[in-house]
Amino acid sequence: MRFVFRNDPCGIACVVFTYFLLCYADFVVVQYLAPSFTNSHWKSIHLVLFNLVLILSLTSHIRASISDPGEVPISGTKLDFSDLLVGSGHDSSEKGKEDRDDGWTLCNKCESYRPPRAHHCRICRRCIRRMDHHCPWINNCVGELNQKFFILFLIYTGLACVYALILTIVAMVKGFGSNRVQPAAIICSVFLIMESIIFLLFVSFIGCDQFQGIFEDMTQVEWIQKKSPMRHRKSRMALLGEVFGRGHCRCRYLCWILPTSPNLSRLSSNRFSQA
Ligand SMILES: [Zn+2]
Ligand SMILES: [Zn+2]
Repeated sequence: MRFVFRNDPCGIACVVFTYFLLCYADFVVVQYLAPSFTNSHWKSIHLVLFNLVLILSLTSHIRASISDPGEVPISGTKLDFSDLLVGSGHDSSEKGKEDRDDGWTLCNKCESYRPPRAHHCRICRRCIRRMDHHCPWINNCVGELNQKFFILFLIYTGLACVYALILTIVAMVKGFGSNRVQPAAIICSVFLIMESIIFLLFVSFIGCDQFQGIFEDMTQVEWIQKKSPMRHRKSRMALLGEVFGRGHCRCRYLCWILPTSPNLSRLSSNRFSQA
């Protein structure tokens, strides 16, 4: 698996802010919420479970950020655009129109051909296979090879938000397990409630969008370009398999929910190699 790093200040700031928020949630749970359970077994169980969800969220985020989303290799031989541009009357900033019969299109920014459903990202400065969108929160494109990690990050972050909300409410009802409640515990808990609600709404909205896109076999880019949905009869499980992995082993569904590299070796757009 290839790794990438986008030198985009906005994306880097968003990633650092995301890690800060995850650390803050963990701090409040460990420092104030878990100790409010006077039963040591429950305290340990909540600490382990909450940290497990956070580790899965963090791992998914890191893999979504640094994994190659599906960059189309740039051909070693640059294409000559002079005839195309003079003939069409378009300037070099416009989309290449010299499409091939096999569905490959020309990207005049990469000066290279790209497979069907690949699009150019101006932040990554590359064409990305089955590009969904460029997400500043992971400082990377969401594409064919890292969409699984992005969706798992949304799911585990949503779970962490729900868990944090439940722990905060229970801790408040219990009076934080002591007769003298520290003001810092209340202030930190109120901020955690606000953070959890905002993030829960955010990841729920994007998560619904992602699953709708998978089931309709449409990326965000294709929605914006108002392309018609794919006309085939793939089952929902087959469409999920194209994102989460197509392995047929017994642990297939376990692989789907863990941030492990998806088995996408039989994907149609993977069959293409650079012309
Ligand atoms: Zn390109
Ligand atoms: Zn991008």
